[in-house]
Amino acid sequence: MLGLMQNKSLLISSLIEHAEKQYRDSEIVSRTIEGPIHRYTYADCAKRSRQLAKALTKLGVQQGDRVGTMAFNGYRHVELYFGVSGMGAVCHTVNPRLSPEHVIYILNHAEDKFFFFDLPFVPLLEAVEDKLTSVKGFVVMTDKAHMPQTKLKNVMCYEDIVNAEDDDYQWPDMDENTASALCYTSGTTGNPKGVLYSHRSTVLHALAGLTVDGIGYSNKDAILPVVPMFHVNAWGIPYSSAMCGAKMVMPGALMDGKSIYELMEMEQVTLSAGVPTVWMMLLAYVKETGKKFSSMRRTVIGGSAAPRSMIETFRNDYNVDVLHAWGMTETSPLGTACHLKKKHEGISEEDIVTLSLKQGRAVYGVEMKIVGMNGEELPWDGKACGNLLVRGPWIASGYFKGEGKGAVDADGWFDTGDVSTIDEDGYMQITDRDKDVIKSGGEWISSIDVENETVGVPGIAEAAVIAVPHPKWDERPLVIAVKQKGANVTKQDVIDHLSKTLAKWQLPDDVVFVDALPHGATGKLLKNVLRAEYKDYKLP
Ligand code: ADP
Repeated sequence: MLGLMQNKSLLISSLIEHAEKQYRDSEIVSRTIEGPIHRYTYADCAKRSRQLAKALTKLGVQQGDRVGTMAFNGYRHVELYFGVSGMGAVCHTVNPRLSPEHVIYILNHAEDKFFFFDLPFVPLLEAVEDKLTSVKGFVVMTDKAHMPQTKLKNVMCYEDIVNAEDDDYQWPDMDENTASALCYTSGTTGNPKGVLYSHRSTVLHALAGLTVDGIGYSNKDAILPVVPMFHVNAWGIPYSSAMCGAKMVMPGALMDGKSIYELMEMEQVTLSAGVPTVWMMLLAYVKETGKKFSSMRRTVIGGSAAPRSMIETFRNDYNVDVLHAWGMTETSPLGTACHLKKKHEGISEEDIVTLSLKQGRAVYGVEMKIVGMNGEELPWDGKACGNLLVRGPWIASGYFKGEGKGAVDADGWFDTGDVSTIDEDGYMQITDRDKDVIKSGGEWISSIDVENETVGVPGIAEAAVIAVPHPKWDERPLVIAVKQKGANVTKQDVIDHLSKTLAKWQLPDDVVFVDALPHGATGKLLKNVLRAEYKDYKLP
């Protein structure tokens, strides 16, 4: 017997409609590319998203067509999130930090029909235009006064096409499994692969973000997503924020510590989210200037492991709580979040930090398990370490156009490529990426553990740990580190510090100091580049 409840499709348009009715005066504040701060409400955003949907229809965009964006976090990008998906087309966000070759590959593979972009990306698009096979027109996300001189063909001004329409537009009803957005993984090996989100997956994921044991976004928050909208839908923040009417504060192109801090203070931001690299810049700025946060209470750290020293600094020096979370492009991205349980009430500060180093418990909707070399399921004892598999309604079931076959098994388990433990309480802890783990004499050394300890050494700004070949042990760890400005730290200082927490066989065989480490398009360390560079490195 079937239940007798309404079978209403879960659609992205319903989020902005809800925000328009329930939270019409909640604000979306953006630092614009043109310079000034722009400020408007969810009601304005809803209206302009409808105008945009009309403009897209006039351009000939149909349901299922891909519309590309290359833009920072700002209100026009939010309108594209709702307008493009809302009308039934697919919002394809492209990471501007990718190489031109990858940009060409992605746009052609996705077959983007129109391409919307921020002013700084005019030269990049001019350089690749000749190689694009599907784009019919380019839209610069600016107003008439700022339209650039460009040799791009068929170029339009965002404000012109939006302002030419009224907002008399009804969002279409459609199957909730309709594709809504497309995001390519950064592709550290091989070509990038497209993850194709649906309306259903997006709305369910946004709901999970609102749960208290998910992220816990609320109407009382002013949220500053440092995580870019061109990377996994800014972790779903624009959708979750519309759902609860939280104020959104969009940083635009300026991600340095000073700019982020000033915006946080000016807009009384309470919650922020981003990768450790940006928090490193922010913490360096507040430390240097002696500033404090007057409203920031919580920060979500994900994308790479949050180092202990970072969690401690936020908590102890700035009274900011850290929520460590894990996910990936293929998981929308929210997979796990590290909230304490009731039973942890009253544990010591040190134990809180130790627990926060874990990536956390699966949020409802995500199932996880760890498996050994032969696919056998491993126990949840906090010790057994294996490949992490996940499944659920916002986990990818495959890649766009059938790329990357075999990522999902017959039972729907997606292999994350991460190696982890899970403890008795369900807390998952990443020990490494499958390809980064250091295999030394039959034991596995977590490159992440060694990195986290190394950035805790006074005078070290950033560190990468890679495996280098060793005649006896197969592989041994090598630390490649960047010193803080003016610091005098030596190899021996690093080894001495690490000896306090790591076993002897886990200690690096050598420490190399460099001026800078290579980062990929999403700000993560490019260990494959380092491995190639140091493949013949002779350990002492
Ligand atoms: P890519 O897989 O191309 O790097 P993603 O942005 O999807 O792009 O990255 C997902 C990966 O980032 C995860 O599989 C994991 O290795 C890493 N990651 C994400 N969050 C964390 C975290 N909190 N701690 C450690 N690693 C993380």
